[in-house]
Amino acid sequence: MKHKMIIAVDGHSSSGKSTFAKAIANEMDYLYIDSGAMYRAVTLYCIREGLVSGSHLHENEIINRIQDINIRFSYNPDLERHETYLNGENVEEEIRRIEVSSIVSVISKIGKVRERLVQLQREIGMFKGIVMDGRDIGTVVFPDADIKIFMTAGEKVRAERRFSELKEKGLDVDYNDIHANIADRDRIDSGRSISPLRKAPDAHILDNSEMTVEEQMDWFRELLKNKTENK
Ligand code: C5P
Repeated sequence: MKHKMIIAVDGHSSSGKSTFAKAIANEMDYLYIDSGAMYRAVTLYCIREGLVSGSHLHENEIINRIQDINIRFSYNPDLERHETYLNGENVEEEIRRIEVSSIVSVISKIGKVRERLVQLQREIGMFKGIVMDGRDIGTVVFPDADIKIFMTAGEKVRAERRFSELKEKGLDVDYNDIHANIADRDRIDSGRSISPLRKAPDAHILDNSEMTVEEQMDWFRELLKNKTENK
């Protein structure tokens, strides 16, 4: 396939979307964009600015300040990854913390927050040649994406993966907290009224509960081959 594509990868929390999407981007020499990092960065901003107290959101204030929140990605050649910047500060590590994970789904329900981030995501995708992962990429952000994938895996498998990943990073985390957070986020993300997490009708389902990354890539290569042959 000669023209550069948009590849949308949506799915449940901790289903391995970013690992898979990065591997695809690497193989195709495309840009990988983690849309969840953008919602996490907005959440971190809200926490730092005191716009969240307990489970209460100062929604009007968040909406008033949304234009002040500048998010961009920058490539770190040492770590060979794109990192998230919030108003000029590298927040890649901080946005992965459980404090952010526990609030991000509530912030993501705010329509104006979604509007702003969807606009940014479309701007990034304008020149194509991207793999973007998230919850509404194939349904809302890029409904005309060339390839749509919907990822899932058993809840326990996902919780165990996430737990090991955070442990490896040296974070002090509790397995039960992680499991509860994943279940909670799925419930809120799927139940919200604006852009809920849904499989797009034309998305291909990938349940990777018992698959290695290499096996997932074989699955993707087959999908790409079929797509190219049917063009
Ligand atoms: O992908 P990740 O798990 O880091 O996303 C964190 C949260 O951001 C999700 O649980 C969801 O609430 C929100 N999100 C979203 N739409 C996206 C990407 C993420 O609502 N496209």
